[in-house]
Amino acid sequence: MAGPRGCSPGRCYGATVPDLLLTDGTIVDGSGSVPFEGWLTIADGHIGAVGRMHEPPPSAASTIRVAGQVVAPGFIDVHNHSDLSPFVVPDMPSTIRQGVTTVVVGNCGSSPWPLSSWDEAVDLAYGEPGSLPRPDWRSWSAYLEAIDAATPAVNIAALIGHGSVRREVLGSQRRAPTPEELDRMQGFVRDAVADGAVGVSTGLIYVPGISAATEEIVVLARAAAAEGGLYASHIRGEGRDLFRAVAEALEIGDRAELPVHVSHLKCESSRVWGRAAEVLAMIHDAADATADQYPYTAWNSSLSSFLPPWAPAGDLGTIARADRDRLRTAVEIGETDFQSSVDGVGWDRIVLVTAPEPRWRGRSVTDVATDLGLEPFEAFIELLERDPNLACIGHAMSHADVDTILADPLVFVASDASATAPDGPGGDLPVHPRDYGTFPRALAAARDRGSLPLQAMVRKMTSLPADRFGLRNRGSLRAGYAADVVVFDPAAIRDTSTFEAPHAFPVGISHVFVNGVLGWSRTTALTQRAGIAVRRG
Ligand SMILES: [Zn+2]
Repeated sequence: MAGPRGCSPGRCYGATVPDLLLTDGTIVDGSGSVPFEGWLTIADGHIGAVGRMHEPPPSAASTIRVAGQVVAPGFIDVHNHSDLSPFVVPDMPSTIRQGVTTVVVGNCGSSPWPLSSWDEAVDLAYGEPGSLPRPDWRSWSAYLEAIDAATPAVNIAALIGHGSVRREVLGSQRRAPTPEELDRMQGFVRDAVADGAVGVSTGLIYVPGISAATEEIVVLARAAAAEGGLYASHIRGEGRDLFRAVAEALEIGDRAELPVHVSHLKCESSRVWGRAAEVLAMIHDAADATADQYPYTAWNSSLSSFLPPWAPAGDLGTIARADRDRLRTAVEIGETDFQSSVDGVGWDRIVLVTAPEPRWRGRSVTDVATDLGLEPFEAFIELLERDPNLACIGHAMSHADVDTILADPLVFVASDASATAPDGPGGDLPVHPRDYGTFPRALAAARDRGSLPLQAMVRKMTSLPADRFGLRNRGSLRAGYAADVVVFDPAAIRDTSTFEAPHAFPVGISHVFVNGVLGWSRTTALTQRAGIAVRRG
């Protein structure tokens, strides 16, 4: 979106009467500087001016007094999976009600273009196609135009997924691409980033990313680098193989000469508990690296990601019969080049979100195994044979590591969520509480544990991710910037969503503005959708 009429950063000439004045609040402008009592005006979808209380504010068409509350830039969620939410749940209540005004999708190697099959679209929409029309976009630009036409509740920026590109060119083949195929793959990445994608993502524990060698990713990262994009990675292992996997991501950044961003950084499995400071040191010592985190001690993933690359879910029946012992070792202990998701965690800490039988939702694999009269590994195979697309939650991280990572200045707050609603897609499932609570939870943690000043935590949610992901004129309360603004009570803000009862909205937020439009407020509870597709640069 272009700048407002007559405005440039720092000055505003044209709008004689602003649309809105927010006054008597505490301004936390996103830069990390000390908060101050002041006011802010919004005009034509942009921030008109920001002032201190001793400077008289201009009169505006309407005024909202926000005494005792913080006025901050809307939060930017750089790790989100709401790729198709604008078409399925455009109100995105679980997102906007956290104070989030922009999400970055296309993460973990999966993006909405190229979209090689309808099944892939349904996967992206988390198995809830709802009213989703069959996507017909033939280019990256067409996807972004479809978002604009849908007008979601929040802004959407997107990465192009290496996995989606690989599937489009190689199908389900597990071999390396030929030079010609690699050229085609590069072309997809180059075109997408030239058309506004913020970079390229990988998901190296998922099919088909799991089959890609480092070299293949370096080549695609170079294509992103040529257009100014970054490299975001769900790395090859977050437990036993954590350090090797972070090293691979950093190597790709060095060789392709582009910024590296490690997605949902964590120390997963007791094998690496207590080592958060070591992995953070790798990020800090790198030439150009950042990371993000959801502040919870459990992950959410697909049960099929427990399978080694030689045993894809589609062939599981045959492989499980022919090579059962090797498969069991790979899944429960791991192999040289494949990290087990169970090792150092245990089946009793793996809880089903979706299940072939509703009574198993929210139950552990161990519980299901007891029900079936089987060993947990056998129950795992049976579950995947009945439904290869099952989602699960793994209670695999330690509180101390989560807190250490959350307090790090180079780690942004991000949800890894897909937009949901109590009465919408996923509303009957025991989803991960991060879907509803990530940002308020991080603010509450900083306040209650004194781990970071408020302005430092807000900075990790706003200006830092905006700069890193090329979201120009967002993430700061500065004249001329897009008026993405959240108003919250710093003493009251907190999450209420839990693993037991996840479909619960946070408290303490009163107003969320998206592009100058009141997208949600506590008093009206109405959602007026004003999100747009955000292009890099
Ligand atoms: Zn991921």
